[in-house]
Amino acid sequence: MRVTQAIIHLDNFEHNIYQVKNAVPAGTKLCLAIKANAYGHGAAEIARRAVEAGVSVFAVAAVSEGMLLRAAGFTNDILVLSVPGDDEIPALFEEHLTPLVFDTDFIAALESYGKAHSVYINVHLKIDSGMGRVGCYPEDAVKVAQFIRQCTYVRMTGVCTHFAVSDSTVPEHQAFTRHQISEFTGAVENIRESGINPGIVHAASSAALFLYPEARFDMVRPGICAYGYAPDSSVADSLPELKPVMELITHVVAIRSIPKDKSISYGRTWTASEDGDMAILPIGYGDGLPRILSNNLNVTINGTDYPVIGRICMDQCMVYLGKNHGVTVGDKVQVWGPGACNTAETLAAKSGTICYELLCNVNRRVPRIYIG
Ligand SMILES: *Cc1c(COP(=O)(O)O)cnc(C)c1O
Repeated sequence: MRVTQAIIHLDNFEHNIYQVKNAVPAGTKLCLAIKANAYGHGAAEIARRAVEAGVSVFAVAAVSEGMLLRAAGFTNDILVLSVPGDDEIPALFEEHLTPLVFDTDFIAALESYGKAHSVYINVHLKIDSGMGRVGCYPEDAVKVAQFIRQCTYVRMTGVCTHFAVSDSTVPEHQAFTRHQISEFTGAVENIRESGINPGIVHAASSAALFLYPEARFDMVRPGICAYGYAPDSSVADSLPELKPVMELITHVVAIRSIPKDKSISYGRTWTASEDGDMAILPIGYGDGLPRILSNNLNVTINGTDYPVIGRICMDQCMVYLGKNHGVTVGDKVQVWGPGACNTAETLAAKSGTICYELLCNVNRRVPRIYIG
């Protein structure tokens, strides 16, 4: 097996799910965001432990991700968050997936497929209360709900929205989130008053489920917190203790001496100022280690931190060991995660991105090893 691996600590994942469970009222349904291969952690294995821990619904982005969970044997409700293509409509029906809908043309296309094949589909109505992405505007919610109601083969089993800045402590953003909650609540009330049962009402992802109790409704949709990270470092202190689930590791595959004045890697961005040793690591940006961290990253070997020197290549990078280091070929190298000097969050901050992106960028060729 390849020596660059993502160790997935399922015990930490379970701990994080329990933190969510403990935060919300008993009876609140848990919908785990498992899109992008469970944020890089491996959808089927994460789904298995999630169900054991009390998750009853999954949220994917692509129809193909929902199909993968069905192929793995999961019979749970699966929400499809992103808008599918028309040619994916048959798969939505066949795999019993639940798309989030708002566009009446798309709903009509579902209805006509259902009618043609005498098959039914559940949908959730998506309301754009301020995210500015998908959904109908709150003032159109009743109209769309009525449109679904006159369908025979399309059944509305839920209503939802998504927040734009619920992970921010900026007062203006907090006011915006409260405004979104009130817009959404108003739209749900209007649906009820029009005589339509909204079904499962849901809104809160990781940030809002902890920070806005009034946004928990019938179901919460945690993603990043289940994988052990705060949605934004500014709110980390307001969240219960979360444990990172992914540990990205590799192993030293060669050690070479570098004489003073030798340059390292593409671009010759690092030159030895004295004689020393370097370790070769079989990990690069092709595995998901951001190239922008070249000359700006330490990794942990046997409990000691060593700097990555020179450009990070697609498949390899080099680490400066100096003299008298005691590192040998085969030693484990921790890049991020439990036990390493870095977390996906600290490296994301250094890379100008968010930990979500680092986690889901861990490439397929990195085997996932499940422990815990
Ligand atoms: C990704 C996503 C979530 C989960 O968000 P986190 O910030 O990872 O908790 C919830 N709802 C929707 C619609 C999403 O796209």
